[in-house]
Order: sequence, then C-alpha cells, then structure tokens
Amino acid sequence: MLIVKKFGGTSVADKERIFNVARRCIEDYKKGNDVVVVLSAMGKFTDVLVSQAKDINPNPPKREMDMLYTIGEQQSVALMAMAMDSLGVPAVSLNAFQVKMYTTSAYGNARLTGIDTERIKNELESRKIVLITGFQGVDKMDNYTTLGRGGSDTTAVALAAALHADECEIYTDVDGVFTADPRHVPGARKLDEITYDEMLDLASLGAGVLHNRSVEMAKRYNVQLVVRSSLNFSEGTVVKEAVKMEGTLISGVASDKNTARIAVIGLEDQPGVAFKLFDHLARHNINVDIILQSVGRGGTKDISFTVAKDDLAEAVATIERHRETSLRCEKVDTEENVAKVSIVGAGMMSNPGVAAKMFEALYDAGINIKMISTSEIRVTVLIDAQHTEKAVNAVHNKFF
Ligand code: ADP
Ligand code: ASP
Ligand code: MG
Repeated sequence: MLIVKKFGGTSVADKERIFNVARRCIEDYKKGNDVVVVLSAMGKFTDVLVSQAKDINPNPPKREMDMLYTIGEQQSVALMAMAMDSLGVPAVSLNAFQVKMYTTSAYGNARLTGIDTERIKNELESRKIVLITGFQGVDKMDNYTTLGRGGSDTTAVALAAALHADECEIYTDVDGVFTADPRHVPGARKLDEITYDEMLDLASLGAGVLHNRSVEMAKRYNVQLVVRSSLNFSEGTVVKEAVKMEGTLISGVASDKNTARIAVIGLEDQPGVAFKLFDHLARHNINVDIILQSVGRGGTKDISFTVAKDDLAEAVATIERHRETSLRCEKVDTEENVAKVSIVGAGMMSNPGVAAKMFEALYDAGINIKMISTSEIRVTVLIDAQHTEKAVNAVHNKFF
C-alpha cells in the first residue's frame, strides 16, 4: 500500500513529538508499505516568522513572505529525516523545489497546478520514507509560493491524488472532526464520518481542522481522508462522498472572526448597480460573502456584504475610486468587529425549521443577528464578534 500521512505543527512541536511521529511512520513502513509524509512547520513557528517579518516591515512583499515561510516546513522535514536515520530507517526530505510541486504565482494563496511524482517514486522504490514540506510550492519562474495558512493539508491531499495513494491520513492535535471546535465548545462530539460537501462548508466557514482547499481537492479526485490524533490511536473521522444518516439535523457549528462588513448606502435603485459594484471588487480579486440588498426607497437602495478582514481596506478603496463615476452612492460604512456563525448539515434539506431553531437559540442567548445567508446545507449569520463563543455554544446546545 502507498500511504500519505500529514502531521500538523503541534504534532512535530519538539524532539519528543518528532520521535513519536517518526515511530508511527516507521511502523507502517516496516509492514512493507510505501510511506510519504507531509509535515508542517514545528509548533507555532509560522506565526513566529510572521512576527519577525512584520517587525522588519509591517507590509512585507508577498514574494519575500513566501520565501521566509518555506524555511519552517524545511526545518521539520530535515529534522524528521535525521530522527528516522537515528532509528535506523532510511528517509529523505524533499522541499517543493526538489519535488517540483508546481503552483500559480499568487504568493500567499497559490494553487497547485501539477506535481512531478518521478523523484518521489524513485525514492520510494529504493525503500526510503519520503518526507515532503507541506504548504509550499514553486511557480513557473522558480519562485517559492505558499498555499495559504493551513495549506499543508492540501499538499497531502494533492500528493495522495497524484500518487494514487491507498490512504491519506491527516494527523492533528484533536481526535478528529467534531460538531464544533472542541477547544471552545465543551459538549462538542467527535463525528465518525462526514461528507465532502459538509466538511467543505465547515472548513470554509471557519472550522480550521482542515484547509478548505484540501477538502475541495479530496472531493474532486475522490481521495478518502481520515482525520485523527497523532497523540493517541483513536479512530478519527473519515471524510468521504456519502455517509450513513445518523438522524442528526446538522453536522456541525463553525465560526469565523476573519470577516468585516461593508455597507454601501444610497446607491441608485437601477439595473446594473449590483453588477458594477461586485464587478469592480472581483477585478481586484476580492471575494465577497454574505450579500444583503435593501428594498428600494425614494430611488435609492443599500447593499451590504462581507469580505475577509485582509481585503477590507482594498475593497473600500476600490469602491471609493468609483464613487464619482460608475458607482454613485451616499456613503460607505464599515464594521470590523463582526463574526460569522454557521450551521452545516445535509439533514436540513429535508427538515424545515432548522434555521428557525438556530435563530431561536440566538434569541434565547440575547444575540442580535446582523445578516443572514443560507444554502441547501448551511445557514450563516453575522453577529457582533464579542458574542462569538456564546453564540456557538448556544447554537450547539440547541442541536446536540
Ligand atoms: P494542525 O497544525 O494539525 O494542522 P490545526 O490547528 O490546523 O492543526 O487544526 C486543528 C485544530 O482545529 C484543533 O486544535 C481545533 O481547535 C480546531 N478546530 C476547529 N473546528 C474544529 C472542529 N469542528 N473539529 C475539530 N477541530 C476543530
Ligand atoms: N505552517 C503553515 C501554517 O501554519 C501550514 C500548515 O500548518 O498547514 O499555516
Ligand atoms: Mg492545519
């Protein structure tokens, strides 16, 4: 069997953890399997790199940021190869440049475009454990890129797809995917399995346990994932196409504080206004999330929407630039202290009243809803960020 195993930062945070991971990999190797291991930077090292960069330059060039990021993962794989060597097992560490893990040039948010598997296959053939840096790639011009924070999961899934691996295991610091973040919701329950679609929504709406693109890719290439703990031997959570219905209305609750609201007030109530507004934003690569348009009154209307916090300044600047010409409006308001709280579950498709139940939980907790957005399998509300944990717990308690 060919197994791809990915270990996150906490799983390789110190010498003891590195040896723990080395032993777990060697166990599979000694059973005769081919083992490919993807590692993240040790502990919170990536955050340390961010602080170092911002201390030198509060607005570091994105290319240089990626250049800096890559050292974190490189340290992990080299130390892991040394640990395995000391345990008498041959291993080789490879970075994205050595593998050739090709991506687009979008520094800090690059997309994988192809993986050259030849070197990896050769190393496996000579019976080595192959250790690969997560999160990083190279573009056509040989610049280092990164896949976005948490991107090592995506590296692992991409490798599993490219190598036609039999298993792809994501090892982390919790026992699997829970009905809410177990660090903030004491009653959160571990799920035995979850569909790609539900996991994709949870990950995109703030459940940081998996990088959302890794789930997207797993679905596209039909890579079954197992999320489990590196610190114990419990079963974990399987992420796959279809699961047994457990009779629960929802699979989980997620929250995301990385959001900001923009309200464009007093737009002309005419055809094409929404198109112009969102077209300007799209041209600047700004992703827009929840959108709310007011009923037109006196020839004007308001449109509010949310963007990621990082995009707020650019979004406002873009709108301001077009205010006098194509986007006539009275004013642009912003609000940063907001958070999204979402419920996700295929069960809500066939059960009316799920949204109402969520709103009731928020009402009982005295939390005001600022915006609402829904899809077939999700309901998201925007609230004051200070109430996030209270809201998540209240909603979770209502459903579980
Ligand atoms: P790693 O470094 O292993 O990639 P991450 O910190 O990226 O680990 O992801 C694991 C963390 O995700 C957990 O420690 C947990 O706090 C958080 N998390 C958020 N939502 C969930 C959820 N629904 N289920 C499990 N963990 C969650
Ligand atoms: N080390 C990177 C990060 O902290 C990538 C990862 O952990 O997946 O975001
Ligand atoms: Mg992660």
